[in-house]
Amino acid sequence: KEFRAGLEMKPLTAADPVLDHRICVCVRKRPLNKKEVGRKEIDVVTVPSKNIVMVSEPKSKVDMTKYLENQNFRFDYSFDETCTNEMVYWYTARPLVECIFEGGMATCFAYGQTGSGKTHTMGGDFTTGKAQDTRKGIYALAAQDVFHLLQKPTYRHHNLDVYASFFEIYSGKVFDLLNKKCRLRVLEDGRQQVQVVGLQERRVTSIEEVLQLISDGTRCRTSGVTSANQHSSRSHAVFQLILRRSGPRQILHGKFSLIDLAGNERGADTTSADRQTRVEGSEINKSLLALKECIRAMSQNKQHLPFRASKLTQVLRDSFIGERSRTCMIATISPGITSCEHSLNTLRYADRSSQKNIAPLPLPSARKMSRRAQSESRIPSPKQPSWS
Ligand code: ADP
Ligand code: MG
Repeated sequence: KEFRAGLEMKPLTAADPVLDHRICVCVRKRPLNKKEVGRKEIDVVTVPSKNIVMVSEPKSKVDMTKYLENQNFRFDYSFDETCTNEMVYWYTARPLVECIFEGGMATCFAYGQTGSGKTHTMGGDFTTGKAQDTRKGIYALAAQDVFHLLQKPTYRHHNLDVYASFFEIYSGKVFDLLNKKCRLRVLEDGRQQVQVVGLQERRVTSIEEVLQLISDGTRCRTSGVTSANQHSSRSHAVFQLILRRSGPRQILHGKFSLIDLAGNERGADTTSADRQTRVEGSEINKSLLALKECIRAMSQNKQHLPFRASKLTQVLRDSFIGERSRTCMIATISPGITSCEHSLNTLRYADRSSQKNIAPLPLPSARKMSRRAQSESRIPSPKQPSWS
């Protein structure tokens, strides 16, 4: 299926951003939901091409539709609301599956505000308890390709076994989602090797088994608390697909970590009246900051990466280091005008994590634009797809 903005399911080439650079940064805009359409929420996010995201920020609180200032961001890929999980997967995580077969370490994470589509992208819809196994997310699509590649003649002789693990980092503590949310300790040895002690690694031999693990782990993640989304928005979930050579020593061949991060707006909860909320907020803040710093340091080929600054970056240490490590970030944004500030924060974070120093496109503010340019850059109505 071909898309007007230039995205299509084409074979990857060596120049693909995901393979070419150690870091690939993408943005995904979700559609307005029924509630937002119902209250006639304005869509302020446009995806004019496969690389650009434009946000029309209201400059006046009195009349939100007047005085818009367009802000442009450039990324490796930007996906609009018509893009499916398969499409996003194709450009982001799929090349990384090949990377782990080549003996590399890969990381793909979803970053964004609560409700912007992180879990939809990573876990798919069936993990949110809706429509059973209809729409697969990146966890399942990656697992599917792992089993597919395992059969390929190129990789068959490697004699690889597939394992999966699933854990959660909540308030700086690690919990095993495949073992009744058992709390796990993180140890670092003299050679700076980090180990999550006792983390369950389940051997999997089919996609069905993986789907079952994802479903069980997700249920475990959200169990025992009153509001499921309340809890999941405050923790990072890490799903890992691990390739090991068959044999008594089970030598690690490659590892793919897929991460559904805590809602980035939670990092701002540092002044809340509730002590627990405050502590959680500062932990989230710390880990997202550390993640950004590590990614920046990596992209600049710095020797020292600030791994120890948070539990999240500490447990991901071995996935970030080395020549063959690849990372892809998917920043998810909500399209509505009421999420505008959060969306801009997400885009700025993604922008700063990106290694490419590209000057913002010289687009004047709405006030200075010609009438024609104004009408062209008008906020599209919810029904009008932004690719058209
Ligand atoms: P988050 O994990 O970031 O808090 P969710 O993934 O739970 O957000 O998404 C919130 C709601 O929006 C869910 O009901 C989800 O199904 C829906 N949603 C998110 N992204 C999309 C999308 N691209 N297309 C359709 N629905 C989406
Ligand atoms: Mg979620």
